[in-house]
Amino acid sequence: MSRNRLSEKLTNKSGFVVIAELVGGPGFDFGPIGKFLSAYKAAPGSIPAGFDFTAVCLPESPGGVANIEPAAVLNYLQTNDLLGDFDFVPHVSCKDVNADAIVSSLVSYRKMDIRSILALTGDKPAKAKGVFELDSIGLLHLIRDINNESYIKAKPDALDKVHQFFTGAAVSPFKYTEPSQMQQYFKMEKKIRCGAEFLITQVGWDWKKSLELFTYLRENHIDIPVIGNVYLLSTITPAPRLMHDIKLPGCFVSDELLEKVLSESVDEHIERAAQQVAMYKAMGVAGVDIGGVYDFGMFTKILTRAAEIGTNWEQFKGNLCWPAKNAFYLYDEGGKQHPLSSYPKKFSQKFFNFMHRAILDPDYTGFRAFRATMAALGADKGKGGVYKFSNANEKAFKYLLFDCEECGDCYLPENFSLCTIGGCEKGMDNAPCGDSTVEGYCGNNLERVCIGELIYQAAGAEKEGLKKLRAIINKPRMSELEHTSSIINYLFAKDHTRKNALISNGEAIHASIPKTGKIMRMLEALGPDAYTKPSGPLNYVRALIESQVSEGADYLAINLDAFGETDPQVAVKMMREYVKMVRKWGNGVGICMDSSNDDVLKAGLEECYNTTESIKQPLINSIKVYTMDKMLPLKKQLDYAFIGLLVSEDKPTGPGGSHSIEELYGLARRIYDKAVGEFGFKPEEIYFDSTVFPLAIDMPMEPGVPGYTYRAFETIRKIKNDPAMKGVHFSLGVSNSVRDLPSRKVGVCRAYVAKAMEYGLDAGIVNTSHHYGLVEPDEELLKLVDAFAKMDGSSERTNDAMMLMGKFCQENRKASL
Ligand code: SF4
Repeated sequence: MSRNRLSEKLTNKSGFVVIAELVGGPGFDFGPIGKFLSAYKAAPGSIPAGFDFTAVCLPESPGGVANIEPAAVLNYLQTNDLLGDFDFVPHVSCKDVNADAIVSSLVSYRKMDIRSILALTGDKPAKAKGVFELDSIGLLHLIRDINNESYIKAKPDALDKVHQFFTGAAVSPFKYTEPSQMQQYFKMEKKIRCGAEFLITQVGWDWKKSLELFTYLRENHIDIPVIGNVYLLSTITPAPRLMHDIKLPGCFVSDELLEKVLSESVDEHIERAAQQVAMYKAMGVAGVDIGGVYDFGMFTKILTRAAEIGTNWEQFKGNLCWPAKNAFYLYDEGGKQHPLSSYPKKFSQKFFNFMHRAILDPDYTGFRAFRATMAALGADKGKGGVYKFSNANEKAFKYLLFDCEECGDCYLPENFSLCTIGGCEKGMDNAPCGDSTVEGYCGNNLERVCIGELIYQAAGAEKEGLKKLRAIINKPRMSELEHTSSIINYLFAKDHTRKNALISNGEAIHASIPKTGKIMRMLEALGPDAYTKPSGPLNYVRALIESQVSEGADYLAINLDAFGETDPQVAVKMMREYVKMVRKWGNGVGICMDSSNDDVLKAGLEECYNTTESIKQPLINSIKVYTMDKMLPLKKQLDYAFIGLLVSEDKPTGPGGSHSIEELYGLARRIYDKAVGEFGFKPEEIYFDSTVFPLAIDMPMEPGVPGYTYRAFETIRKIKNDPAMKGVHFSLGVSNSVRDLPSRKVGVCRAYVAKAMEYGLDAGIVNTSHHYGLVEPDEELLKLVDAFAKMDGSSERTNDAMMLMGKFCQENRKASL
């Protein structure tokens, strides 16, 4: 039976969606779920018109108490023919499994063709140790990477069948302090940026707060489907008292609401739930998720009564308004936003800022002096007496001041001097979760203020701090650094702040790559709205963009020259479209227009600036001595950096009929002098590229002639060591170096990059998934590349290189079948 798809219903806005949230009974009992769905099956037509009962949703050990796995429930429902055409929406949380285990369960869901999931940080386990290696933001990132990988691996003719998770995220508008509430909205925005495609609210009984969420979304131009969470708050379960007593963190029941519920009949509880369904429907949500209902009869009663109420929910406002005392609302009665608070700086924050500036801010001399001292004392090795002594001091000091728990990958600067490991019950990367109490305390430990609350106040004490807080997304901590010295890791660039010394220019959007080119053609053939209307080919291109960004690309190169072979105007038009797509999905990555046609480069450059948003300076690849007079003057209208390709139309006069190092250097100098001297380019806006020759065929045909690799590497050295061109970059299209090798291409390319970096290479057009520049190369492969780097024309060096290449090919020949 074909399944309803929540994704389709929410995307097409085809009706008011209803989801039933089902939970197993005590003792890991499937019974309540089975009973509910059997009753549904036995009562066709029982759902009133206007409600589309689309899906069942399965929490994962709700309340942090071990329960049946959603995957086991799915199996039970399928085996007993109870799932029918419902979509199955499991919760995926981070509470009790590490990142690898989450990947395992996601790929299992993919195999089961589960599409809609709800990504959550999860409740703190009631008895077991919480894991929280990821939080909801890290999880959303992970899911997006998995989605993109599915597209990238798909065959061109199967793009319309690619599995994609449709991922929801939670948001609570039911927070009653400014910090807790604003953090919820900030985090909601971050979740959307990380791939959330629909939202589901926390449970809560305050219509003003429900409305506040929609006002916030509207004011901030956020268009995303929202599912309202309706919980049957009834004395048939202990939930009202547990929520009131903060035993279910994140759920709030006021004294007054509890008193009222205790005084009511079950029918009155059902009535309130029905009023809330009608309220959400009238507010324009995409649907409701109904929880706390174990009896299908009650479920239909809620919907039937909601249908009767229709849009007239406002008469029940009093029954749907149970706020906290001294509640914070973002908007006044007239819908005008209250100004946000500013806060004083606390001593620990001032002290942290002072210390950070004194010895840990690379912009200040203290950093360089401290780093040099620690290096001289050998602490950079991460072992030895000095390292241990400094680590012991750091631990004691940071524990006292910041509740540090030695994660080794410190986020104090990003979190405004607060630690989200020691200071948070879940140790979250991106605090807060949704568990804070109405007073802003941690729902999992009432003796501490929620760290999210404190971070907000600290951010509010800094200039532009709230803006920064709203924007920042912390990556998952590097688990391998746990219990090591975070200061040493930071000083010597081993933690999350490390930057790749190689500026990476992603090469994947290239029309000459057979599969990519084919999909680009399919996309172009879709007609006028090809680049805006979702389709398999468009999603593939989006995946190429997002995955390279996720892999750390600094720039994304776009090469469409294969389209311009018969009609250059096709490539001109397409370059504009691809620039728009990278701008839209590239999260601010630099755009590199790569073409041998100057009109294509110019069109791309113009499109880069066809926006009101600020953009990273674009890069043009390439300008040559014979095109520079046409291209360089553009700088006056459109700011850009460029790759200067060291080729000329003149006949080479170097050994073996190629350009000599001196000639290549001369070409660089001509470009540099004109760009800097006449058109105001800064040296760091210039990248030189001398082209790459495959190692496998880098064999001089005559004695005394140096190899191409030797020539390229020595050119890099000469240019980078020239004081007259101080500050320029050198870039290579490194993938070409391993063409025609029998195997181990990634390893050889990694060694090639590492060796070239010894000569001064600091940029490359690369396959970003291989993280060149960050992963250590294999020693043997490094020796192989080194032999070519030294092949200066002498017979001895040539023999060395040829011998090593012969050995490599012999050892790495692929077995034939
Ligand atoms: S401190 Fe805040 S973010 Fe951490 S678990 Fe408690 S409520 Fe959640």
